[in-house]
Amino acid sequence: MGTLITGRVGHVVTKGLDTHDLVCDKPSIAGSVSQRACVFCGSRVVLYPIADALHLIHGPIGCASYTWDIRGSLSSGPELHRLSFSTDLKEKQVIFGGEEKLYTALCELIDHYKPAAAFVYSTCIVGVIGDDVQAVCKKVEKEKGITVLPVMSEGFQGTKKDGYKIACDVIAKLVGTGDDLPVQPFSVNILGDYNLAGELWMLSEYYKKMGVQIVASITGDGRVKEIRNAHKASLNIVQCSGSMIYLAKKMKEEYGIPFIKVSYFGIEDVSDALYEVAKFFKSEQLEEKARQIVIKEINQIAPQLAEYKNKLQGKKAALYVGGAFKAISLVKALRMIGMKTVVAGTQTGNAEDYKILREICDEGTIIVDDSNPNELSSFVKQTGADIFIGGVKERPIAFKMGIGFCDHNHERKIALAGYAGMVNFAKEIYETISSPVWQFVKR
Ligand code: SF4
Repeated sequence: MGTLITGRVGHVVTKGLDTHDLVCDKPSIAGSVSQRACVFCGSRVVLYPIADALHLIHGPIGCASYTWDIRGSLSSGPELHRLSFSTDLKEKQVIFGGEEKLYTALCELIDHYKPAAAFVYSTCIVGVIGDDVQAVCKKVEKEKGITVLPVMSEGFQGTKKDGYKIACDVIAKLVGTGDDLPVQPFSVNILGDYNLAGELWMLSEYYKKMGVQIVASITGDGRVKEIRNAHKASLNIVQCSGSMIYLAKKMKEEYGIPFIKVSYFGIEDVSDALYEVAKFFKSEQLEEKARQIVIKEINQIAPQLAEYKNKLQGKKAALYVGGAFKAISLVKALRMIGMKTVVAGTQTGNAEDYKILREICDEGTIIVDDSNPNELSSFVKQTGADIFIGGVKERPIAFKMGIGFCDHNHERKIALAGYAGMVNFAKEIYETISSPVWQFVKR
């Protein structure tokens, strides 16, 4: 662990060697070059999939990097979310203020696109120059007659996790403002599934077959009207607990809607996600339908998985992801295909998450919170990992180390959730690890 800077030692444990509790849930240490993104990025991630809303970023053009193809969150209808509008603040606005530019841009965009609602994101420079974003939103809302919500997400306020919370507060302002969707007794909202590569559509099919209605899929293929009606659902199913647990708790307090935490990655966890819903509604009929789905799907994919397991037996994976629930599922999914997790880390895990992660990992696994490229590279070297599983910021680390990379973040185009997703995952891992390209790279 010689690569750790002062203050980072507590954020890393090797199972079986270290006895200290992992330090987590803290702001990143200055100079550590954390893999975490900014507050604005956290808010943008959560709100991005609301497909019929206008998303206007008030700031310099660089903040508005989320465009058409950078995120894999798909929509079955409108695609306004995939456009990234910016007020493109320049020196003139930084000196004299950007409220006028924001007002003009907002009015023009609303007139042109006629969105169901508008979100206006405040970025670092706006926080510094002191534009009154809330007042402009209020004025435009009154003039145009649509909901215009300020997202006060100045990047310097904290971490990406704070951005999640700000976005949840904004969504909470929409929840409960509609009463125009019929709701059945077995009804749920899905929170924290981002419909990457259409994963939500696969999962919705399972729930539909069970007879469960999805009122709002808040963070994937989202619609303003459904979110307005989300308070009418009987249960909230939370997948990415890091980003959505705050909203789930808030909805429990305000509307008495209970929530369960699930994961849709890996056979074990996706099956549990179906059974848990049936259990919540105390319905034998739902349970039986869930059982039929699980048996059918597992029977279908078992031969393919067995083949991949044979080929991947003993290979080692390093993983570094946003939320801990995904890390926990990945450790189990990798074990199912014969692989060992040698490094497991997250950007936003909490003490409870890391306790579970520590329990399910093998002896010798390095568990790390809020890591950085230097640490991750040294862990890969130390453990001899064959593949790195992470997001866009981990990709160059893997390639520089001369090992394969599997994208398990928002940029990907391959569905990795559900039963079919498990086969896709195994296939991707196998094809990446066994690619002939690695013989030409110095590790
Ligand atoms: S840190 Fe500030 S300037 Fe950088 S992307 Fe985030 S909001 Fe924009």
